[in-house]
Amino acid sequence: MGSNRTIVWFRRDLRIEDNPALAAAAKEGSIFPVYIWCPTEEGQFYPGRVSRWWLKHSLAHLNQSLKSLGAELVLIKTHSTLEALLECINAVQATKVVFNHLYDPVSLVRDHNIKEKLVELGISVQSYNGDLLYEPWEIYDERGHAFTTFDPFWNRCLHMQIKAVSIIPPWELVPAARTIKKCSIEDLGLEDESEKSSNALLGRAWSPGWSNADKALTEFIEQHLLHYSNNRLKVGGDSTSLLSPYLHFGELSVRKVFQLTRMKQILWANQGNSAGEESVTLFLRALGLREYSRYLCFNFPFTHERPLLGNLRFFPWNSDLTNFKAWRQGRTGYPLVDAGMRELWATGWIHNRIRVIVSSFAVKILLLPWRWGMKYFWDTLLDADLESDILGWQYISGSLPDGHELERLDDPEIQGVKFDPEGDYVRHWLPELARMPTEWIHHPWDAPLIVLRAAGVELGLNYPKPVIDIDLARQRLTEAIFKMWEAEAATKSACSDETNEVVVDNTNSVTNLAIPKVVLNTKAAHATISSNDQKVPTLQDPKNVVSPNKRSKCVEEGGQNQHNSQNHKNATEVSSIDHDVCSTAESSSRKKQKSTTCTSTYTFSVPQQCSSSSELKRSWQEQIDMEQSSSKDGKLPPLKFSQKIEK
Ligand SMILES: Cc1cc2nc3c(=O)[nH]c(=O)nc-3n(C[C@H](O)[C@H](O)[C@H](O)COP(=O)(O)OP(=O)(O)OC[C@H]3O[C@@H](n4cnc5c(N)ncnc54)[C@H](O)[C@@H]3O)c2cc1C
Repeated sequence: MGSNRTIVWFRRDLRIEDNPALAAAAKEGSIFPVYIWCPTEEGQFYPGRVSRWWLKHSLAHLNQSLKSLGAELVLIKTHSTLEALLECINAVQATKVVFNHLYDPVSLVRDHNIKEKLVELGISVQSYNGDLLYEPWEIYDERGHAFTTFDPFWNRCLHMQIKAVSIIPPWELVPAARTIKKCSIEDLGLEDESEKSSNALLGRAWSPGWSNADKALTEFIEQHLLHYSNNRLKVGGDSTSLLSPYLHFGELSVRKVFQLTRMKQILWANQGNSAGEESVTLFLRALGLREYSRYLCFNFPFTHERPLLGNLRFFPWNSDLTNFKAWRQGRTGYPLVDAGMRELWATGWIHNRIRVIVSSFAVKILLLPWRWGMKYFWDTLLDADLESDILGWQYISGSLPDGHELERLDDPEIQGVKFDPEGDYVRHWLPELARMPTEWIHHPWDAPLIVLRAAGVELGLNYPKPVIDIDLARQRLTEAIFKMWEAEAATKSACSDETNEVVVDNTNSVTNLAIPKVVLNTKAAHATISSNDQKVPTLQDPKNVVSPNKRSKCVEEGGQNQHNSQNHKNATEVSSIDHDVCSTAESSSRKKQKSTTCTSTYTFSVPQQCSSSSELKRSWQEQIDMEQSSSKDGKLPPLKFSQKIEK
């Protein structure tokens, strides 16, 4: 062990085992582990109640583990992460700072700036891959361009070598001699007093912390993995691994999950157990989607505010706050959707299929802006993960080349019959429908009055009538798509007049359409003099690549877009990502590939707030304030959505 003093900056890597930053620091000398909580820097992506609850417990768990190894986790609450790091460096006379990479748009910018500043000040900084199987800058197509569809991305990944897992944790950590002003876990303020009673319920179902993550993984691999292929589509119960919160907070090394799963695959292959092999393949694909979400955010760091495809730029969203509220509160009158939204509210977690159903309902039936839904999920999910959330919402909104078609509208009644055939899921989450016969449970509005009466259901009183008729919704979606195409065509012709004017979509001030080409900026790596370091992508100047012929021209130009053109050809095929991500829809991208542009600007900035108009934000705030006061009667917990937006 050397004599260096290293600050280990923990973020979303709250584990001991296979933690490359921690292991490297421990090898070189004494370490000073620190967690810095900086609410102001979280901006609009300040974590929601359940997510903060998880973080609090996970930090406490990690602290105990580090103590038992000889070093305490120092908790700091601050207004500036950089300042807090500098304070730590001065206090312990540290020579080095290490951390594991994050890839979400907010962290990418913050980490890059901090790294540059520290290096400028002569402090050595080293960062590591602690979150992924493959770094997003390692996977490019033959021409060196980023993939924009999942299948070729994952195929390429599976042919790459994964770095070895260091299962054994550091034997002993030596704490740095002096300490700085630290705070207790309570002082961090991750849990408000008013939230504690609701949060207590979460503790019954979930146990945060890396050693609990390990137990959950072992149990899943030993007992459930074999049946994953058959069970993963069942919406009730624990049909999937339930590992997402652990993976989000880095309590589990994804390399370890991959490795243990692969071992099972080999074992089952030897035994000729094809069901087991298939389960592993599908489960690994799920991990692949997580990789892909980070890959997209790294290579296209605008995706939290603007879709990857520009197809929605002219979509006439219906920014209706009453509908948005009905959706959030599970009062749309569509039982499967309402059950899903109530489960989300109550438990902070819902099955992938339910996520698809409720998100598609918001976008395609209520025509609510996809970013509203994305932000609401961010605020309410226990596993709220910006990259996966972005991937999910863009996928269902027709904004990814291999995602759902925008024009496809799934009827929640039919989905209910298909995925909750006995109605048990609905009955569980909607007690007011508990006595409805199975025949009517997914469409109570069709039930004869006598049946409704016998079940104690009074539509419009104790359970809402459908917020919109499904045929009308279908018609409105079609009209909206036509309007979108018209607006697109109008802009196209305006552009041919050589004007530089840009028309933006009605919720988005960021402009552009085609998928930009990404090149890797190696400057950052030079600045920190390390091959492990976080790379930074740069977007090629769109003015140089986007011609008036827009997407189709772009498709020819970019190597990545070879895949897009392949997508065009396979427009009617069902993509395999569909089965994994959002298996209720067919995949095609012909129409969405019609996107056009004239002038584009690409931003790569830390979002401070949603770009919807301030007027809208104000009325939204008023609405939510009302909702919060009305929720005090105990019916539903208060929302945090607009509070965050205003931050
Ligand atoms: C609209 C929408 C929003 C979503 N938001 C989130 C989110 O905020 N956080 C989140 O972790 N997942 C999100 N997902 C993805 C997915 O629903 C969850 O990862 C999954 O349901 C978690 O359950 P599990 O751990 O039992 O998954 P399993 O099926 O057991 O999969 C294992 C792991 O693979 C990863 N994974 C599986 N499916 C996906 C996927 N579609 N995209 C990305 N990673 C995946 C997760 O890390 C998961 O824990 C979203 C999906 C949609 C459609």
